[in-house]
Amino acid sequence: MEEKKIALVTGASKGIGAATAIVLAREGYDIWLNYRSNHEAAAAVRDEITALGRSCTLLCFDVSDVAAVKATLSPLLENEIPHVLVNNAGFAKDTLMVWMGDSEWKDVLSVHLDGFFYVTRLLLPGMLKRRSGRIINIASTSGQSGVPGQVNYSAAKAGLIGATKALAAETAKRKVLVNTVSPGFIETDMTSELPMDRILPVIPMGRVGKANEVAEVVGFLASDKASYVTGQVISVNGGAYM
Ligand code: NAP
Repeated sequence: MEEKKIALVTGASKGIGAATAIVLAREGYDIWLNYRSNHEAAAAVRDEITALGRSCTLLCFDVSDVAAVKATLSPLLENEIPHVLVNNAGFAKDTLMVWMGDSEWKDVLSVHLDGFFYVTRLLLPGMLKRRSGRIINIASTSGQSGVPGQVNYSAAKAGLIGATKALAAETAKRKVLVNTVSPGFIETDMTSELPMDRILPVIPMGRVGKANEVAEVVGFLASDKASYVTGQVISVNGGAYM
């Protein structure tokens, strides 16, 4: 019988995470779908996944809350270890550094860096033991180029890129491959308020991306086709940063 394969996608009730969960389900993975608060949206994504013939387990927790991460994942990991982990949960709290308060700094670093650390360290021992796994971290062009008004977010995403490379070097011999996908401007709730008249001229392709265009690259990195790719940053940005 074919081995059951699971993918855990964080922040998958909407946007890039939801599109990624659906692409991975289409590729044959059962999905553990994490989200923080939007039960209705998460249930709608679950319905799409089950319509594809895969199972979908909804896991509502805040990735930056170490106790909640452990309480939810530890019991599940006693029985099954996902083959794929996509660290996608995140948000921005933009403001210029001169006005940035403690919570804007800490919350943004915490959701991306603590979230990556708390979730990944729980799955890692099982992946290493099995000698196979894919970890895909969703960074941002902001972490590569730096963006004014996003000192917190650029720092968090640059940190995630550094963590990806260090972890990739630690785990390569055990065939646990770790990569970053770095989206540019993608049409989701996160970018719905941005001034497109100022953004479009700096994107060589002249348009924002779709969540599915990021998800397909994650799907590739999770697949057998990417068996010699690790420690890389794959940009999906329409040429906005080269
Ligand atoms: P989105 O549409 O706002 O969706 C964010 C998702 O993350 C939601 O499912 C949300 O869950 C979840 N989430 C937020 N905080 C969480 C937490 N503490 N714990 C667990 N889940 C949490 O955002 P998106 O645009 O798809 O962004 C997804 C990722 O891509 C983020 O890491 C973002 O930084 C990155 N990114 C986005 C863009 C872009 O242009 N959109 C560009 C570069 C990088 P609930 O709604 O249930 O709370």
